[in-house]
Amino acid sequence: MKTLAVLGSTGSIGTQTLDIVRKHPDKLKVKLLAASRVSEILLKQIQEFKPEYVYIKEYTDLPGLKVLSGNQGLEEIANLNIDLFINGIAGIAGIKPTYLLLKNNKRLATANKEAIICLGEVLKDRYSEIIPIDSEHSAIFQCLQSGKKDEVNRIILTASGGPFWKRDNLEGISVEEALNHPKWKMGKKVTIDSATLMNKGLEIIEAHYLFDIPYEKIEAVIHPQSIVHGLVEFIDGSIIANLSNPDMRIPISYAISYPERWETDTHRLNLFEIKKLEFYEPDENRFPLLRIAKEAGKKGGAYPIVLTVADEIAVQLFLEGKIDFTEIPQIVDTVLQELDFPAPKDYEDVISIIEETKNLFKNLIQNSRR
Ligand code: MN
Repeated sequence: MKTLAVLGSTGSIGTQTLDIVRKHPDKLKVKLLAASRVSEILLKQIQEFKPEYVYIKEYTDLPGLKVLSGNQGLEEIANLNIDLFINGIAGIAGIKPTYLLLKNNKRLATANKEAIICLGEVLKDRYSEIIPIDSEHSAIFQCLQSGKKDEVNRIILTASGGPFWKRDNLEGISVEEALNHPKWKMGKKVTIDSATLMNKGLEIIEAHYLFDIPYEKIEAVIHPQSIVHGLVEFIDGSIIANLSNPDMRIPISYAISYPERWETDTHRLNLFEIKKLEFYEPDENRFPLLRIAKEAGKKGGAYPIVLTVADEIAVQLFLEGKIDFTEIPQIVDTVLQELDFPAPKDYEDVISIIEETKNLFKNLIQNSRR
């Protein structure tokens, strides 16, 4: 029996993780569920999976359960004796738990790319133990098993292109349109990032840190069918690719069962239905965030952190209807040019870069609106 902690249990990754648990009650036992607050869905999950522990940000008494909360609770989580911690938290809120779990040498499967990026400079020596859930990185992780690290020529991440990759005019796009992803069912933040292609930019940085591969060897291609998730080219010219229907339960299941493979209830790929797979070069002029992200990644130091925070706030402002879709890249670019921090040396540096970026960002927005 493998014991699991599901962080972000009510979100997109969390609920799909629990789908996998439902399929394998003989192999998996949920020991902890963590969510930001008590909700109807969390209460249902507690009833169904009967965890020993529940984490919520602000303490609430839940009869019969050990309730952990606040920062103290996060520290306690990272000390629990659990076989696998699944991090399905969205955005920069996932940084602290990621840090504490890695510091305590816990087995971590994570979909939280923001944490991998922001902690990259200070924790990348621990990253070889992480099992990626992000579909492209799960694909690369699987393809890399076909050869040795020094036999890798390049890795290729695919992008669906989001809803707008063919559209010329990106002005006046509504929140609803941007949230209407053609292929993947995901949380709001990553869906907007997908529409701006920022998601692929962040994933290039994520891949750089996770797999310790230089940026020159990482590429992104638009692949609208979302059937090929990632490819690794080896020095002999052979390319190994990972294919499946776009369904997050496949990479989640693999992250849980690794190094084994278990059955899933997912719709199998029918090559005759697919017929053809297309690949296009991304247009960095129409989707400047891809270029901006790659540049920030290559500069390294604090830049990937500033990029991540600026994007998260810009996406939030877009979702709240306060800025236009086309202002997301403009704002992120401005913030990156405005800020200059020394490279972080430890976790505290990372947190202060995040806080200062948030503050300077607020001032910048206020000034521009006056
Ligand atoms: Mn992805």
